[in-house]
Amino acid sequence: MKALVYHGPNKKSWEEVPDPQIQQPTDVIVKIETTTICGTDLHILKGDVPAVTEGRILGHEGVGTITEVGSAVSTLAVGDRVILSCVSACGRCSYCKQGLFSHCLGDEGASGIGWIFGHLIDGTQAEFVRVPYAETSVYKMPDGVTAQEGTLLSDILPTGHEIGVQYGAVKAGDVVAVVGVGPVGLAAVVTAQLYGPSRVIAIDVDANRLEQAKTFGATDGVLSTDADWKDQVLALTDGLGVDVAIEAVGIPQTFDMTLEMVRPGGHVANVGVHGKGVNLPLDTLWISNITLTMGLVNTNTTAILLKLVAQKKLKVDKFVSHTFDLHDIEEAYDTFSRAAETKALKVMLNA
Ligand code: NAD
Ligand code: ZN
Repeated sequence: MKALVYHGPNKKSWEEVPDPQIQQPTDVIVKIETTTICGTDLHILKGDVPAVTEGRILGHEGVGTITEVGSAVSTLAVGDRVILSCVSACGRCSYCKQGLFSHCLGDEGASGIGWIFGHLIDGTQAEFVRVPYAETSVYKMPDGVTAQEGTLLSDILPTGHEIGVQYGAVKAGDVVAVVGVGPVGLAAVVTAQLYGPSRVIAIDVDANRLEQAKTFGATDGVLSTDADWKDQVLALTDGLGVDVAIEAVGIPQTFDMTLEMVRPGGHVANVGVHGKGVNLPLDTLWISNITLTMGLVNTNTTAILLKLVAQKKLKVDKFVSHTFDLHDIEEAYDTFSRAAETKALKVMLNA
């Protein structure tokens, strides 16, 4: 089969590799129908994620059809169309039992990290993929959900919802600010609306992204490069600050912004993956009763989001900015990595 193989920093190629085989009785093999590229794949290609070794097939999102099942698999069958989750969960370890699938202790990768596709084992940017712990990790595709919509449920929708909106404890009437409205920030913008906020303020350096955010339901857009960005945000509240500030970039500057705009008693939910530490000025913050959260997506709300997508209560088709043939994945990487010019959000690869 063909797959997108990582060959060390800044090196990748779409090349011939052996077909994946069932290795454990709980595995299935899936023929990929649709996959996509994540900002995290670009981090990997920069060499920022050293756990990814040369020869690894990238990708942790996708929808496909089961072509083979392991001997212990009884609730899935050849021919089932499934959504692959970015987090693989054994369903049996102590973390899985408490719903913290992001820290699954299963043997695959043996790392205590549930994100293993395209990280510790071969991923989904391929014609076929081996799926471990299949019964407790995949979701059968309901009628009325497209493969592209299903692919958005692999990672970005649960990430924005769980680590942004739920950890941020968004509730009716809240003013919510989302710093960084790339695909993950936009997933927070969309899913925040399930809880009835009074305003959702999108903040970004890219004016085009702010315009896109309004089509996803953001009520306001503020350019973070404006010298008075903070005054603009405070003017959209009662003057005291936002109830919930969601960070979806992953740099110290944007984390600082969330602390500057959150009101006393408010929530800061960090979603961004940070490459270096940030400053936490506890000497001034301690008195503000702020809740600060962070985490790796658990995908514990994927089934709920899938139901809402199937019912068209969550409209997500706008996330797809470009579609390519799976064989043109290198061109898709190029388009995705130049998002400011190409206006790319999610680039979908269809087999
Ligand atoms: P992205 O790069 O596509 O989007 C980031 C956005 O931030 C862009 O729109 C960019 O213009 C904006 N931005 C950059 N600098 C800014 C600044 N100074 N002020 C305001 N906006 C700024 O990334 P994405 O795919 O949407 O992912 C967002 C973050 O979420 C990344 O750090 C990613 O690694 C992380 N992530 C976390 C998890 C998790 O489980 N916690 C899962 C997936 C992704
Ligand atoms: Zn587990």
